[in-house]
Amino acid sequence: MRYAVVSDVHANIEALDAAFALIRDDDEVFCLGDMVGYGPNPNECVDRLRARVTAAVLGNHDVAAIDNYGLAYFNPAARDALRWTQGVLSAENRDWLDSLGYEFRRPDFLLVHGAPVNYFEYILDKAGAARAFAATDARLIFIGHTHIAEVYARDPDGTIEHVHLQHGGEVPLVDGVRYLINVGSVGQPRDLNPQASFGFYDPGAQTVRIERVDYAIARVREKIASVQLPDALGRRLLVGR
Ligand code: ZN
Repeated sequence: MRYAVVSDVHANIEALDAAFALIRDDDEVFCLGDMVGYGPNPNECVDRLRARVTAAVLGNHDVAAIDNYGLAYFNPAARDALRWTQGVLSAENRDWLDSLGYEFRRPDFLLVHGAPVNYFEYILDKAGAARAFAATDARLIFIGHTHIAEVYARDPDGTIEHVHLQHGGEVPLVDGVRYLINVGSVGQPRDLNPQASFGFYDPGAQTVRIERVDYAIARVREKIASVQLPDALGRRLLVGR
């Protein structure tokens, strides 16, 4: 059994399909939230995810889309996209999002959008990672939210190491070490690599892998223009920031 973990799809169906093309039928799929917001295909993405995931947790954009939560705190382009999303999201998809929780736990791992307990906190450094490790006893914590693929590893003595996985790569899991794994963003990467980002966890092989994959960015940009969302949302996809 292998687990695929996708996050921050952000209504980008081209990117989600490119990720799903690398996911095998016998992989179990999990989603860390922000399925909607920013992008032009919220219903297509939620439909695809609903049909495929074992579990999904809510991101801040999902909550804003279904009940207006925190709308005032988003930047103007994000807020415009959320208002548009609210208008087009089907009742079925809204109900499904509304049925989700903020965390999902298996004995060996925890899934949250941003951080354990403070679900929408941005983990940006080792101090943030240390707070996350202290907030749960899960050995592996999978997160998204910052749209930056990276791993923090905590040794038994409390030392934390950090690696960026901007171009993907594999991390062997060492006995006794705990890991905070940011799988990056499928639909709006922000680590200066425009390729879609997501993760695999292989419990048998004891590895975590970040995949980066090309997708038709120009097509998404055209769709963003055709539904009259801010052009900045398309331009940032080209540069991955
Ligand atoms: Zn996001």
